[in-house]
Amino acid sequence: MYCRGFRVLVMCGIVGIIGNSENGIEEPMHSLKRLEYRGYDSFGFATNNGFLEKRVGNIGDFDASGLGTASRVFICHTRWSTHGAVTEANAHPHLSCDGEIAIVHNGIIENYQELKKELEEKGHRFRSETDSEVIAHFFEQALSENMSIEEAVPEFMQRTKGTFAALMIRKGEDRIYAMKRDSPLVLGLLENGFMLASDIYAFSDRTNRAVFFGDDEFAVVGVDGYEFFDSRGRRLDKEIQDFEWSRENETKENYEHFMMKEIMEQPEACRRLIKSLQSTQKEKIERLKDMIVGAKNVMFVSGGTSYHASLLGVYLLKQAGINTQSVIASEFQNYAMPDRDTVVIAITQSGETMDVIEALKYVKNRGSRIVSIVNVPYSTIQRMSELSVEVMAGQEVCVAATKSFTNQVTLLLYLASMFGFETDIERMPDEISETIRLNEEKIKKLASELCGRNDIYVIGRGLSYPVAREIALKIKEISYIHAEGMMGGELKHGTIALIEKGTPVISLISNNNYDMLSNTKEVESRGARIITASNSNEADLKIPSNDNGKFGILATVLGQMLAYYMALEKGLPIDRPRNLAKSVTVK
Ligand code: GLU
Repeated sequence: MYCRGFRVLVMCGIVGIIGNSENGIEEPMHSLKRLEYRGYDSFGFATNNGFLEKRVGNIGDFDASGLGTASRVFICHTRWSTHGAVTEANAHPHLSCDGEIAIVHNGIIENYQELKKELEEKGHRFRSETDSEVIAHFFEQALSENMSIEEAVPEFMQRTKGTFAALMIRKGEDRIYAMKRDSPLVLGLLENGFMLASDIYAFSDRTNRAVFFGDDEFAVVGVDGYEFFDSRGRRLDKEIQDFEWSRENETKENYEHFMMKEIMEQPEACRRLIKSLQSTQKEKIERLKDMIVGAKNVMFVSGGTSYHASLLGVYLLKQAGINTQSVIASEFQNYAMPDRDTVVIAITQSGETMDVIEALKYVKNRGSRIVSIVNVPYSTIQRMSELSVEVMAGQEVCVAATKSFTNQVTLLLYLASMFGFETDIERMPDEISETIRLNEEKIKKLASELCGRNDIYVIGRGLSYPVAREIALKIKEISYIHAEGMMGGELKHGTIALIEKGTPVISLISNNNYDMLSNTKEVESRGARIITASNSNEADLKIPSNDNGKFGILATVLGQMLAYYMALEKGLPIDRPRNLAKSVTVK
C-alpha cells in the first residue's frame, strides 16, 4: 500500500521503439524481456496504429508470433504495481478516453488523486485504479484546449508531483514523447531507428550509443531524429555517449535457473574484477584509497544485500586501521550527519536504488564527496558520483543477488589489502570453486531436511555477522522460510528464548573464534539443531581457507546454495520470487 507523505520509487521496465520501417512485436518484446528483472507482475504494449495488448503474467510465456502486429512505433511496459491490483485493466499502456493517446509509465504520480478529480470533473472517465492513467487524460485534455503535446509537457511537469519515466504515443503519429523525473530513462541510437528504455540493458545487444535523460527533461523522438527540451520547453544540446557493457551469454545455459548459473559464475566474475583492479580500474581504486586517506569521515550507504557487503567493508577496513561506518540508505537521513570532510561511498548493484539516490541527494546538500561501487555502468548513481568503481559482475538476472555481492566484497577486501590487511586475494576464485565442490552434496541433503521448517537462525560474529544476515536474507527471499541472521552475542538478550529442541541454527565460525564456539554451545545445550560452517575439520560445511578476509565470501556462497536447494525442493519460482523485483526500493 502507498501512504501519502512517503515516497516510493518503483522500477518497472519501459521500452519504446520507433523505426523507419514496420516491424513485428517480437523485437520490442525481446527488449522488454531484457528489462523484466525490473518488475514482472504484468505487461503490455501499444502501437501507433491502435493495437493494444495487456496481460497478467510472464512475458516469457507470451507468444507474440500469432498477433500479426506490425508498426513503426511501439511502447511497452513490464509492471511492478504500486497503485491498483495486478489486473489486465491496471497493466500498462493506459489510454485516453478517445483511445488516441497511449502511455506507459514507471514511477508514481503522487498527486494523481487531485489531478484525477479535476479531470473527472471535466468529463474524463478512468478505466484503471492506477496513478499512471492520469497522464493519458492530462494530455488529452491539453489537446482539447488546443495545446500541442510539446506545449503541454512543461505544464505537466509543473503540475505533477512524484516520479516518472513516461512514454506517450498518438494514433497515426510517427513519434514518441518521452519525459523523465527521478525514474531512469535513456535513448538508444539504433541503426534504423531509436529505442527509449529504462536502462541500457534493453538495447545493449543492439547498440552502444545512447543519450541519457536528465531530470525534468523531455524528448520528442521521430523516425529520423530527436529533440530534447528542458522543463520549460527550451531546446537542449545533449551529448551522445558511447558505452561498453559486457555482453554475456544471457541464457541459462545448462542450468535450470539463473540463480545457480550466477552462483557458479562467481569464480570467473571475481577473477575478472581482481584483474580489472590491477589494470583498467587500477587508477580508480587508487584514487578511492587517496580519497579515504584525505577524508575525516568515511561512510557507506546502501540497502539489502549491498548493505551486508558494506558491513563487511567496515570490518575489513577496520582491521587495516581505517575507521568507517555504514548506514542503511532508507534511514540515512535520520542517522547520518556527513559533512564537507566526509567521503560517502554508495554501494548498489543496479546503481538505480532510490533509497540510495535520495540519501545521496542529502549527502550532496551537505557538501560531502560521493563515490560509488556499482555493477551496472551508466546508472544514475554512477553518474551522481565523483568517482565510481565497477564490480564487474556482469548482468545478474536472478532477483536475489549472488555474484554482485561476492564482487562487492571482493572489491572491499582488495581495498582493505591496499591499506595493509593481509589476504591472498588471488586465490579466491579457486577457493570459491573449491567451497562449492566440497559442500554441494551435503547442502542438498541439508536442504531437504530443512526446507519444511518455519524458522532458521543464522549466527555470526565479527566478519561472520554480516554473512549471517546475508544468508538469512537469501533464505527468506528465495526459500520463503523465516530466517534471522544475527550477532551471536545478541542471542542471550532475547532470541535464545525461541530456541527449542530441533530449531535449526547455522553457526558461522571463522578460525575457531572462541566466542562463536561458546554461543554455539549455548544454543546446542538448549536442543538446537546446529549446522556449523567453518574452516575446522569437524565443521558440517567446510570452508577451505584459513584466510579470515575471505571467510565472508566463502561462507555466503554456502548460504546461497542452501537457499537455492531449499527453494528447489519446495518448487518455488527461484529467479523471480513473489513480491520482489531486482531494483525496487521503498522508502
Ligand atoms: N505506479 C504505476 C502502477 O502502479 C507504475 C508502476 C511501475 O513503475 O511499474 O501502475
